[in-house]
Amino acid sequence: MTVITRFAPSPTGRLHVGNIRTALHNWLFAQANRGTFMLRIDDTDEERSAAHFITSIRADLAWLGLTPVKEERQSARYALYQRQFDTLVAAGRIYPAYESAQELELKRKIQRGRGLPPVYDRAALNLTPEDRATLEAEGVQPHWRFRLDHSAPIEWHDLIRGPQHFDPATMSDPVVRRANGSWLYMLPSVIDDIDMGITHVVRGEDHVSNTALQIQMFDALGAPPPSFAHEALLTGSEGKLSKRLGSVGVDQFRAAGIEPQAIRALLARLGTSDPVEPIQDIATLIAGFDFSHFGRAPARFDECELAQLNARIIHELPFATVADRLPDGMTEAAWQAVRPNLTAVAEAAEWWQVIEGPIPTIEKGEDTAYLAEAAAVAAMIDWDADPWHSLTNRLKETTGRKGRQLFLPLRRALTGRDHGPDMAALLPLIGRDRTLYRLSGT
Ligand code: GLU
Repeated sequence: MTVITRFAPSPTGRLHVGNIRTALHNWLFAQANRGTFMLRIDDTDEERSAAHFITSIRADLAWLGLTPVKEERQSARYALYQRQFDTLVAAGRIYPAYESAQELELKRKIQRGRGLPPVYDRAALNLTPEDRATLEAEGVQPHWRFRLDHSAPIEWHDLIRGPQHFDPATMSDPVVRRANGSWLYMLPSVIDDIDMGITHVVRGEDHVSNTALQIQMFDALGAPPPSFAHEALLTGSEGKLSKRLGSVGVDQFRAAGIEPQAIRALLARLGTSDPVEPIQDIATLIAGFDFSHFGRAPARFDECELAQLNARIIHELPFATVADRLPDGMTEAAWQAVRPNLTAVAEAAEWWQVIEGPIPTIEKGEDTAYLAEAAAVAAMIDWDADPWHSLTNRLKETTGRKGRQLFLPLRRALTGRDHGPDMAALLPLIGRDRTLYRLSGT
């Protein structure tokens, strides 16, 4: 069996952390099984869907390195949905219902008042053809419900949650089509999963009860259901994922200097028994991906953890990966010298400026003589072999200074700052001429 997974976002916004995670897991599972990962654009809600979000979803997936092999759009597939719908209507599995939203709300209120679960009472099933004709003559257009089979429990073995069990009699027959003919999510998704040969549906556990209903739809359409993996949802540091954090989009992560490798490394492992590590190599994430490692408890998404992981990843990013984002002329040696100090790749430009100059002149004050001495030493040392150690060892002997006293005035004069990358790595890049100039001012 060739594994086929799909990521099925609705194009009503940018990708955010929750659906990036779903996309990633679908992608990783497909890769781990040499299968196919596809993108299905769930755009049946034509009012809320927007073409520019489809464009940004594609771009976001590409940036994350999760490019789909195939893409389908639900709005291009209405003819198929109509055919299957007609089949199910003919088979009595889909029926028209005429209650207004207010009527349904009232029914639920009464049920709740009696301590009963607010399950649809199937009143529409008792309508005669004449009743229906009368209603339609009055201008009431029906919406359409899928009739659940109450004869047996709905069961499946979820790849994350284990054995699942639902009693269909406790569930309302789901509405699958609105009175204006538009499609709700449920049925088109099943029709597509069948038509596209989806073998594994990987999604958030907010869909678990939908799955119970959809399993009956697969059955009604004569197709075996795929395997399901429902992941525990993400939470924020204080419980539920806040609206703000939950809606942080790929564009915002990008603007904050977060690398796709960091997002992948975190979201691949969050909520699993495997440690979150700064893994850049996607092959490692693929090889270690296994639904049996996922826990059932909500996984905590923490922006600080992402930022820390991001920094650790940046500290190891090879020059070739970032070269096109570095300032013109910045060399591999310069990248390697500054990357341990970065929390975002864009900050490399500041350090390149420190290397290239000009840097702000600092007040030398009581270190004037010391720095003049340093300039004299710098003029003599061998610049091809570890100039920083030659310089500081020599100054230690001649001035008796040590520690902070020895190093800090040099760092300040040479970089204009108190902190920064290892001077041993920076000094050869600053070079002899600029060093002499910065130390002596001439
Ligand atoms: N469009 C649905 C969603 O975003 C897809 C759910 C599914 O994976 O079936 O929730």
